[in-house]
Amino acid sequence: MSEDLSMKCGLEIHVQVDTNSKLFCQCPTNYKDVEPNTNICPVCIGHPGAKPMPPNKKAIDMAIMVAKMLGCEMVIDKDIYFQRKHYNYPDLPSGYQKTSVPIGEHGTFLGVGITEVHLEEDPGQYKPDLGTVDYNRSGTPLIEIVTDPDMKSPEEAREFLRQLLRLFRYIGNLRGEGTMRADTNISIKYNGIQGNRVEVKNVNSIRGVYKVLKYELIRQKNVLRRGGEIKLETRAFMESQMITKGMRSKETADDYRYIPDPDLQPIVLSNDWVEKVEAQMPETPMNKEKRFVEQYGIKEDDAKVLVSDLELADVFEKVVAELGNDKDGISLAVTWIRNELKRVLVYNKIEFFETNLKPEHMVELINSIKDKTISQKIGKTIIEQMVEHKGEKTPKELISEMGLTVIEDTSELEKACEEAIKNSEKAIEDYKSGNQRALNSVVGQVMKLTRGRAEPGTVVEILKKKIDG
Ligand code: ZN
Ligand code: MN
Repeated sequence: MSEDLSMKCGLEIHVQVDTNSKLFCQCPTNYKDVEPNTNICPVCIGHPGAKPMPPNKKAIDMAIMVAKMLGCEMVIDKDIYFQRKHYNYPDLPSGYQKTSVPIGEHGTFLGVGITEVHLEEDPGQYKPDLGTVDYNRSGTPLIEIVTDPDMKSPEEAREFLRQLLRLFRYIGNLRGEGTMRADTNISIKYNGIQGNRVEVKNVNSIRGVYKVLKYELIRQKNVLRRGGEIKLETRAFMESQMITKGMRSKETADDYRYIPDPDLQPIVLSNDWVEKVEAQMPETPMNKEKRFVEQYGIKEDDAKVLVSDLELADVFEKVVAELGNDKDGISLAVTWIRNELKRVLVYNKIEFFETNLKPEHMVELINSIKDKTISQKIGKTIIEQMVEHKGEKTPKELISEMGLTVIEDTSELEKACEEAIKNSEKAIEDYKSGNQRALNSVVGQVMKLTRGRAEPGTVVEILKKKIDG
């Protein structure tokens, strides 16, 4: 039987802003580094009568920047209220979350509509299994990005989030990795029957969102296939089991009893304010990609790979500046950063910023290859070691520690060549009868005997002299 299945997904993505103090009080936001319930005051634990301070300026600036980067229209010269969103949960001491109306609207990112961007406070951390609550996080500024239900597959949602996290890294001052949480909305249509929207709350990784969508797609399809009905509901993601579980039938806006918070003045954005923020805005990944192609004359594919990792792109530019911004310098930088370093990063499943490597390290390595202190082959080994040692050792230290400098002593090289010739009777015969390529295996032997410390060009020279006589 043929089946006709389609899905729509919209996300509500929360990301913390990396401010020193919380959104409405001066408590620090380093909640992970301190004892539970130490970064708290009457405001952020919701004591009745405690007056919140005006919202943190940096948090507003960052929300403007995010909205702008996502192509939103800004809400100018209008009251942007903080509302009280009421719900009962132990992580929310006041019984309501202070959450603003949109700061920017109608944006688009990777073809996905951005419904709105707003600012709100993070609740505390409740551990149902232990029955404990830690309010250190309560009041940390959060930016919430609400998308239109435009994503049509788990893969598309995953790619959207990957690119969004990359954008966060470009913007800076956001705690993208590690604090990103996405409420994941999904509805499906199966053989002409449209199911209701299901929301899965608080999924805290890209992989989680992907798994949730995969799981819900199958679960909802099976319900519809059996003639059942998809209820409008909120579900929880059980990460350990990679399944979702019903929590409650979905709240409507009425359930939250939104009211403007009478303790807080609304924010009013002016064109001036937005322009000031725009002046600080970093280059977008898309623009950087374009610039790399134009400025350095590199291939679009290479630019894409470099730009996919902001720090890697920075290193590339710094290294080019050091090596000389010409054809040779650029091609060395592409070879050793975009090809070799990237290969090692991918193999180790890490990003450049996690390695603590510095641009100087790459310059030092590339120069060692350029001046033939080490061979290309050893260069690759050293990059692997540099990543493994997380930048604690410089290439020079690694090269001398491992005794990997190119062999200068010709007698040592000649000895290795002689041994290789002795072990390669067949190849030598082939070579003598005119097969030039047969020599490659002999060169390979020499490289093995010298642990890659020989210059292939010199080896070929010596071998030919010895064989041809
Ligand atoms: Zn506080
Ligand atoms: Mn929210």
